[in-house]
Amino acid sequence: MRSNIDGNFLLIGLMAYPIRHSLSPQMQNTLYAKMNVPYVYLAFEVNQEKLPDAIKGLRALGLRGSAVSMPNKQLVCQYLDKLTPAVEMSGACNTISNDNGVLTGYNTDGMGYMRMLKEANIDVIGKKITILGAGGAGTAIAVQAALDGVKEITIFNQKDDCYTKIEAVAKKLNQNTQCHVRVIDLADNKQLRQEIATSTVLCNATGVGMKPLEGQSLITDPTMLHSDLIVTDCIYCPRKTKLLEMAEQQGCKTLNGIGMMLWQGAAQIKIWTGEEAPIEYVKEKMG
Ligand code: NAD
Repeated sequence: MRSNIDGNFLLIGLMAYPIRHSLSPQMQNTLYAKMNVPYVYLAFEVNQEKLPDAIKGLRALGLRGSAVSMPNKQLVCQYLDKLTPAVEMSGACNTISNDNGVLTGYNTDGMGYMRMLKEANIDVIGKKITILGAGGAGTAIAVQAALDGVKEITIFNQKDDCYTKIEAVAKKLNQNTQCHVRVIDLADNKQLRQEIATSTVLCNATGVGMKPLEGQSLITDPTMLHSDLIVTDCIYCPRKTKLLEMAEQQGCKTLNGIGMMLWQGAAQIKIWTGEEAPIEYVKEKMG
């Protein structure tokens, strides 16, 4: 617990509901203490009904910013003054920065994923990624990857609401970036095999592999994973999903979701404090 909190400290919020289970306050405050910067981070139970007042409160009290999670990521965009291109494209914001009363919306999930790859010395710029799943995580990753210069992205999703939404996002990305984005039905196993065969990175951005679907994988035939493929999973609990286990056996390099989670937090800290967070410090603590 920090004992030096004085009148100069600035507050950063987290607006979501439910939120009491979140590990973000612990992670963020641990980093602020280690960095010795005058910020505190607190979680607030904010549902969609309370969101407009919460944003007014943020402005009135002069919070430095806020993280935003479900169910507010889409809704919050209309209350902000500026949106980054990633938020414009994805329609989802997970980070607000308050710069002298001007509120800017960012999405750091995709930034976290791309930074995780970079930190692992994986170069995907000008190359191809196949993504399984186009919910919040898959969409954020696809958008940031396209903006960063990935050449081709193929997204597989089951035919649910997310499918229709990602088709619209893909259209925008194809119109506004150099990236070629395609959306294909996850049920098309032949296409899935073909797309993976020509990809540098495969990314699972579904919950298949964690509770209640722990022990399951959307890829069931290991021969779909070639040894040059880098296989990533957004899931971090368990640390090694069935997909990553299969990929390791095929000789693929693998990365779980811890890096994405930590680096998206680091991107938020950079936005709010202007400083690089010592991510290795919390990584050690989180095991
Ligand atoms: P979401 O609910 O927004 O999207 C879920 C996606 O999974 C959709 O594309 C849906 O069509 C697909 N899906 C769901 N059940 C499926 C099934 N049985 N078969 C095939 N596809 C299925 O969720 P989200 O927020 O995008 O999260 C997805 C995963 O990413 C979760 O495991 C979550 O824990 C993880 N995640 C990790 C981080 C991180 O920082 N590492 C960040 C966000 C999400």
